[in-house]
Formats: sequence, structure tokens, C-alpha cells
Amino acid sequence: MPFIKDPLPFRNNNDILYANFINIGQGDCILFEIPVDGKYRYLLVDTGLREYERITAFKKNFGIPQIDYALITHPHDDHDSNIKAILDDNPRLNLWMPRCYNIRHNAFKNLFVFYFDRLIFLDWIGTAPVNLTPELSPSTKIELIGPTRTYIDELKENEIIVEDTFEINTVNGVKRLNNFIFGELDNDQENELSLILKISFCGVSIFIAGDAETHELDTVGSILFSEEEKRKNSTHIDIIKLNHHGSENAIPYILVGKTSSQYAIVTTFANVDQKKSVKFAKDTLGVEEYYRVGHTEHKNLAYINRDSVTFAIKPDKSGKKAVIVPMIYKLPTQTTGEIFFIRPSDVESR
Ligand SMILES: [Zn+2]
Repeated sequence: MPFIKDPLPFRNNNDILYANFINIGQGDCILFEIPVDGKYRYLLVDTGLREYERITAFKKNFGIPQIDYALITHPHDDHDSNIKAILDDNPRLNLWMPRCYNIRHNAFKNLFVFYFDRLIFLDWIGTAPVNLTPELSPSTKIELIGPTRTYIDELKENEIIVEDTFEINTVNGVKRLNNFIFGELDNDQENELSLILKISFCGVSIFIAGDAETHELDTVGSILFSEEEKRKNSTHIDIIKLNHHGSENAIPYILVGKTSSQYAIVTTFANVDQKKSVKFAKDTLGVEEYYRVGHTEHKNLAYINRDSVTFAIKPDKSGKKAVIVPMIYKLPTQTTGEIFFIRPSDVESR
């Protein structure tokens, strides 16, 4: 297979958005390079399961300095395990995280104790998307579209979570979290409470639903496809990250008949059977290409894949439309030390 070494198409320009789905082993790690007035701002969505050196290698190869924004979709290892290193290496960075907390989750407790002043808790949302970065508009919007108030109310009615004041001891004393939600959540419920994002750039939309499962996604449809969104002509989704690593109980049925997507991404997690989800993306949603990102040594998993995927999104002159160029690459290993790119035309969808 022929490799081309650098650069990604148009990487010398400064008007392209790059959505980098970094192969972090198991889990999610997505780094956005966002053009703003000829410079770049950087957003990291989830930090993967270990293998922090893959994030630093990526940053080094592309000369990425400080990360400006970071968000953790939900408190699971395969999404948040490098978060302390990210906070330490990017001292100006504040971290967005959900305003929901499993009473038993120690990783979040540690964050509260050592980094409390750098955490921004995101609320559940009402009936319309919430723009997290008004300063990047109008070309780029990072919108929160879930979890929804409807879904949270359901969990409260079933007494799975409570909304109350939560007190924690931090390094600087006792802090109070007002209107915090917490409970004895199980794994699936924590997945369901994922922060859900829609990232739009010059007419192209990317849907990232953390590990949200079908139940939460059902309530998100009313926000994604509301009359208001239809009026703004912004109900389409071009690139979709399949939720919960493509597992069967996270198939986004909500999108059927509402939007057609060009690309889908499925990330690795051991023991998750992705066949049905991938089939859904291809046959039902009609995606042109899907990519697997991640690698695992797990013996029951059908593949081991060491590629990462970048979508270069290049606006036309009007700034209202853009072309999407997917690129597959290999991160440096100890033996090669360099990033190798593969042209998408050299690779079949897999
Ligand atoms: Zn999860």
C-alpha cells in the first residue's frame, strides 16, 4: 500500500477545519483544529484510555501548542483516563464536564479535589442546542444537544438520580455544587448521561454522542430535528461517530429518515460487537464510508487496527459550503518515528 508522508491536503492553508480521530487504543480521543481569523484554536473531546504519548506525538507532529478547550463526554476510563495529564500540560485550559456524577466514581472525585477551579459543569439542556463557543461563531459552532431535560426528568422520576446540593472537600476547602445530579448509576446509565455534541463548520456537521445509548438519543431527536433547526436548514449530519463504540444498544435509530450522512467512525472497545451498528450505518443511514479507529489486543475482537482518521473540511469561497476530505494515517511508533498518511483512494472502506 503506497504511503504519502505529509502533508494532509491543504495543510498549509489556514482556513481548514481538521477533525482528528486519534487512535488511542481503546476509547475516544478527538482533536479539532479550528481556524479562527487565520489562526487555530484547539478542542479536545475525550482523552482516551491511557497511551497519552499518542496525543503528545500528534501535537508535536503538527506543531499544536496549547489546547484551548477540552470536554469529557462522561466519566468512563476509555474517555477520561488522560485528563490529569491534559490539565497539567495545558495550564490555561478549563475542562467542560457533565453536571452528573456517580457517587462511586473515584476518578471524578480526584478531579474535584485537585482541579476544582478549572472545571466547568455543563447542564442538561432544554429545547434548543446550547452554543458553547459563541466567540467562534459564525463559521464554527460547538453545540451541546444532550442530555436533555426530558431524559433527566425520567431518571429522577424513577429515583435513579437526585438533584441536590453536593459538598466536596477540595484542596482549597469545601465546595458546594448546587443543583448537582448524582446517584448510584450503573455503566449504561452513565453512558446515557453522556454530553452530546454537534460541531458545525461552514455547512458541515459532525455528531459526537459520547457513549449515549438509544434511550437518551430518543430524547435528543426533538432538539436535533426541531422546527427551529429545520427553519435554519441545519438538521443534516455529515460525519457521525457511532456511539458506545458501535455497540448494538447504542444504534442511533433517531437519525433514520431525518438525515443522510457521508461518513461514520467507530472506535474500538474490547468485547463490543460492532457488526450490527456498522451494518446500520452502511445499509440504513447509507454512509459512503466508515472507518474504524483504535486498536486492541483483545482476543475476541475480530480486528486490530492501528490507523487514525482525519477529516479535512475545506470551505469554498462563500464560506457556506465545504468539502470533506478523509485521510487515514498511522501515528509514529518507536520504529518509524513519523506519521504516515494514506490517501483515502488507496483504502477501501473498512
Ligand atoms: Zn462509557
